[in-house]
Amino acid sequence: MRVHHLDCLTMCPYGGSFLGGEGGLGKRVRIVAHVLLVERKNALALVDTGAALQDADDPAKRFGKPFVWSSSPRLERDRCAVSRVRALGFDPKDVTDIVITHLDLDHAAGLVDFPNATVHVTSAEHAAATARATLVEKMRYVPAMWAHDPKWKTHDAKSGDIWNGFESVRPIDDEEEILVIPLRGHTRGHAAVAVRSPIPNGREWLLHAGDSYFFHDEIHATPPRCPTGLSFYQTFLAPDEDARKQNQDRLRRLAADKDAKTHVFCAHSSTEFDELERMAKHV
Ligand SMILES: [Zn+2]
Repeated sequence: MRVHHLDCLTMCPYGGSFLGGEGGLGKRVRIVAHVLLVERKNALALVDTGAALQDADDPAKRFGKPFVWSSSPRLERDRCAVSRVRALGFDPKDVTDIVITHLDLDHAAGLVDFPNATVHVTSAEHAAATARATLVEKMRYVPAMWAHDPKWKTHDAKSGDIWNGFESVRPIDDEEEILVIPLRGHTRGHAAVAVRSPIPNGREWLLHAGDSYFFHDEIHATPPRCPTGLSFYQTFLAPDEDARKQNQDRLRRLAADKDAKTHVFCAHSSTEFDELERMAKHV
């Protein structure tokens, strides 16, 4: 399957080396929202969504002023997933499935631009986003992003198969080429999404790890390394810090295992995004 790598919500907060860029706190850092557009046999699928058209028109309305102020998003209609799908020559109506790593506002905002798509999410994430039980969850989950009442398809973490050492893995349908992999930690029902799509480095699966980690060296360097600000931010947001850390260990093992033939990347690393976008041009 051909996969397009799209950045559908670029954020440019101040933070320099504190957030993984260069220099002092006054320097801006480029943080992407890595969305996959998957060309399937008879349809299209998205992994995560980034921003919606209406967010480009009025960023603070759904994202809220604190998010806009702290992350400085570059919101333009042309960069939203629905515009990118059209620009590639496809009809957005052919996006039949959206697989969402979790329902944080920067991942779920674009759902509204694909009202007819089936939205795949873990049961635990759907429950957490609807209950909004804690202060952090009231901040991160924005009900307006699913006010259009999407066609949810929830995946229960108690069922499924083992895949590369990960439990409760479920394909979204009989094709078994897009898998939902529960990776609790960043949120209560966070998941990674595996897509079968060979890339030039010999790997056969892409593993979109969502917000399981934020910085490429957290998973791909030995010893692992994460800038202080990003490290603090991840711990602050996580409802289950132990699970988050354990799942990072599993992702490190998977990324290092050549036999698994799986390319691991997260939602927000511009380094990983640029590498994959470059490779996709040579497929
Ligand atoms: Zn995120």
